[in-house]
Amino acid sequence: MGPLRVAILYHDDFRSHKLDSISHPESPRRLDLALEGVNSLVSQGFGRLLTLVKAPRSPLDSFRLVHDKQYFDSLVEVLKSRRVLWLDPDTYVSPGTLEALLRLSGASHKAVSLALKGVSSFIVGRPPSHHAGFKGKALKAPTRGFCLLNATALIAEVLSRHGRVAVVDIDVHHGNGTQDILYSRGDVLHIDIHQDPSSLYPYTGFPDEAGEGEGAGTKVNIVTPPASGDDIYLDALKLVDHILSFWKPEYIVVSAGFDAYRGDNDMTVTNVGTRFFHLAGKILSSRAKSVVSVLEGGYGEGLRKALPAYLLGLMGKKNKLWEPKTRSSRGAWRLYRAYKKLTIYTIIKHGKIQLPEEIESKIKREERLFWLKKMGAEKKRRRKRLKKGWWGSGPTEADT
Ligand SMILES: [Zn+2]
Repeated sequence: MGPLRVAILYHDDFRSHKLDSISHPESPRRLDLALEGVNSLVSQGFGRLLTLVKAPRSPLDSFRLVHDKQYFDSLVEVLKSRRVLWLDPDTYVSPGTLEALLRLSGASHKAVSLALKGVSSFIVGRPPSHHAGFKGKALKAPTRGFCLLNATALIAEVLSRHGRVAVVDIDVHHGNGTQDILYSRGDVLHIDIHQDPSSLYPYTGFPDEAGEGEGAGTKVNIVTPPASGDDIYLDALKLVDHILSFWKPEYIVVSAGFDAYRGDNDMTVTNVGTRFFHLAGKILSSRAKSVVSVLEGGYGEGLRKALPAYLLGLMGKKNKLWEPKTRSSRGAWRLYRAYKKLTIYTIIKHGKIQLPEEIESKIKREERLFWLKKMGAEKKRRRKRLKKGWWGSGPTEADT
């Protein structure tokens, strides 16, 4: 397959969601960094594969497809008041937020129409989407995590009317909003690679969160320990690739966050380089007719370096931003393997996704060994109890 074109959907209105008086990590500066990343590819001669498309403006109403009526109506009311307002300690709205969201809605529609024609796109927009659930704050998250309306879920919802869809979330945080919205949808696969939720916002996305009702078994959570290197992330990608090769989506919607990149920000401990992002782009574009990427997180270097590496992967080009492979500690591997095993058990248990025979049989063998060991330990315990007798100390020679 030859190199692929990617449409970059952008508009300056994405900058109008902002705070003037306080510095907030989710600010228009992120767009400067992301565009710097895109432009670095143009200056390297990849401009002919990247088409800059002005994000059109369209009404917010389509977001009703993925949000609760009461939540949507009250948010619109707040947006129309054109005030600065904190919805929770993380999430703000400002006088220009409405303009940004109208462009996000337009960009989502444009991305869908391009995807249907087989053209991949990347929405370089704000505010981000994946923490915005059906009623705003999703699952057990303490806040909305900078997100107001979920464009990722909206695009997946609309595309699912035209063909088979998979959502893949590579942001370092779990896409709890997207999971919340798609949880009972059996026709939309959602794979999410994220850092251990026992120590990171939004504290959800454990392997046993696999969907409910018809959706049971179509939500896959892959957990990586803090400070995981490329090795662990590349292993996780292999699993993603196996799942996608079974699911055979026509369209993939990506929650494209770049905050897993090492040193991206002070809020998370990460150690992933450009290799992971490049390979992610490459695998995703090889597994679908078209890929729609929505910018989620990424607050610093991730946008300047990991974003262009991901784009090169999507376009089927070599990683020009080569970096040495980072390795994870043994402790990180141990934790990752334990989590991965749970993810695979969950997949096998629900039976909606068939993994390659060698993965399934390895896990089943380990499971058998686990139970055999457990049974062995139980027998030993029982033998001890028999020796001890009912009262603990057991009858003495003198008693008998
Ligand atoms: Zn994030």
